[in-house]
Amino acid sequence: MKIALIAHDKKKDAMIELAVRYKDVLSQHELCATGTTGTLVMGETGLPIKRMKSGPLGGDQQIGSMIAEGKLDMVIFLRDPLTAQPHEPDVSALLRLCDVQNIPLATNVNSARIMLDHINEESHS
Ligand code: PGA
Repeated sequence: MKIALIAHDKKKDAMIELAVRYKDVLSQHELCATGTTGTLVMGETGLPIKRMKSGPLGGDQQIGSMIAEGKLDMVIFLRDPLTAQPHEPDVSALLRLCDVQNIPLATNVNSARIMLDHINEESHS
């Protein structure tokens, strides 16, 4: 599967923790991420990740365009619901495109765990 990873600043530690915990699962898939998230996750896990631009500089839109083109199968987007984001329109557009294309989307850690556990079980069945 092709999986995108995105985390707002206050959720980056949670994304790193998630990626470390699910490194074996993630390593079996093709990963892309917004710039800073990708750099941090790569640094902590060593997983190969295609990095787009930083989210506020267009990375969310780049990932959105991959969704529109059918090039992604799953999105893990750990959002910070308590902080205003300057690129909120881009965030909304990305979430909307996931729904338009029926792409599985996790916006918090527990949802992401359920999705990653699921693809892990599927790969062993
Ligand atoms: P970043 O972007 O990974 O480059 O910080 C995430 C975002 O805020 O959309």
